[in-house]
Amino acid sequence: MLESIKRLAAEYADSIIVTRRHLHANPELSYQEFNTAKFVADKLRSFGLKPQEGVAKTGVVVLIEGRSPSKKVVALRADMDALPIQEVNQVSYKSKVPGVMHACGHDVHTSSLLGTAQILNEIRTEFEGSVKLIFQPGEEKHPGGASIMIAEGVLQNPSPVSIIGQHVMPLIPVGKIGFREGKYMASSDEIYLRVIGKGGHGAAPELTIDPVVIAAHIIIALQQVVSRNASPKEPTVLTFGRITADGATNIIPDEVKIAGTFRSLNEAWRQSGLEKIRKMAESIAEGMGGKCEVTISKGYPYLENNPELTRRIKAAAEMYVGKENVVDIDLTMGSEDFAYYSQKIPASFYRLGTRNDAKGITSYVHTPTFDIDEDALRIGPGLMAWMAIQELSDFKK
Ligand SMILES: [Zn+2]
Ligand SMILES: [Zn+2]
Repeated sequence: MLESIKRLAAEYADSIIVTRRHLHANPELSYQEFNTAKFVADKLRSFGLKPQEGVAKTGVVVLIEGRSPSKKVVALRADMDALPIQEVNQVSYKSKVPGVMHACGHDVHTSSLLGTAQILNEIRTEFEGSVKLIFQPGEEKHPGGASIMIAEGVLQNPSPVSIIGQHVMPLIPVGKIGFREGKYMASSDEIYLRVIGKGGHGAAPELTIDPVVIAAHIIIALQQVVSRNASPKEPTVLTFGRITADGATNIIPDEVKIAGTFRSLNEAWRQSGLEKIRKMAESIAEGMGGKCEVTISKGYPYLENNPELTRRIKAAAEMYVGKENVVDIDLTMGSEDFAYYSQKIPASFYRLGTRNDAKGITSYVHTPTFDIDEDALRIGPGLMAWMAIQELSDFKK
C-alpha cells in the first residue's frame, strides 16, 4: 500500500503543482472563496467523486468510500482562503488579484488535499472505511470557517473518529515534517479599550480628565495580568499594537482608543485573564476620574493535538519520509481555527516543511514575499493519504 501511494503521488505531483499555481494566481479572501470552491468541486468531480458544495457557503466536503465504508471514518482538512496582502514575488504564478495573496499557503493545503483525494480514490477498493475531506473557507477571519462548518454538521453523517490538518511551515526545510503532541497553538481574543476623559487645553490640565495619562497607566498595569496573574507555567501574551489619541501637542483629547490581543493555552485561565483585564482597565480609569469601555471579541480557542493520534500520524510520517525527516516542533502563540475541531474530536495539526535556503525561499507566512519550495507538494498529498490509511487500518502494516 505504501508503495502504491508513493507511486501515485509521484505520478500526480506535476499536476498538483499546476493546481497550486492556479490557486495561487487566483486568490480569494475569507468567505469569498466562490471560484476556489467551484474549482475544487469540479476537480473532485473530474476524479469521479460526488462533492457536497455550499457547506458554510463556500466550503466543500467529499467522502471517499472504501470497502465497508461505514466501518470507520477519518477526516482530513484543508483551508482555502487568502489574505489581504499585495504579493511582491516575481513568479509566473504571481497573484492576479491586486491586494490579495495566498500568503499563508492555503493554496498549498487545498491543492495537496485534492491530490490526496485523487490518490485515495484510486486505491479505494484496497482500504476499509471512509475518508472525509473537508475544504474549508474563512480560516483567517473570525468566527473561523471551521466553527461554521461544525455548526452545519461537518462532523456528522458520517462522524469521523479523528481529524488531521496539514499546514505549510517556512521555518522547516522542505522534505521534513513537524509534529507536536498536546497544546500547540494559542487561543486568541481581540481587546478594544475606549478610555473616556474630558479634553481641553494642554496648558490647563486641571480643567480636564486626561485620557492619555489614564491610557498609559492602563497599558502598563495590564502587563501585570501576564507577569503576576498568569501562572509562570502558562504561556500568555498580551500585546497592544494600536493606540489612538487624537489630540495635539497642546490639546488633550476626549478619548483614547487602544486595541490588542490576548493569547493563552488554557481555557480556564483565558476566561479569568480576560475578566481581570476588563476589571483592571475599568477601575483604573474610574480611579483617575475617567471611564473605560472594554470590548472583547472572542477568537479561536487553543489548539490541542491529541497525543495518541499525533503519535500515530507521526509514526506514519516516519514510515513515509524516514525517521530522519520527522522533527518535533515547539508550541506557538499563533492561532488557527482548526482548534475548533480539536474541541470536538481527536485532532492533530502537523507541519509540512516548505523552506529552501539555497533557493532563497525563507519568508515567513503572512508576508508579501512568502512562497514555498513546491517539492513539498511531492510529499504532502501522499503523506496525508498514507496517514488516513494508517488511521483507518488501526496501524496494521
Ligand atoms: Zn494564516
Ligand atoms: Zn494558515
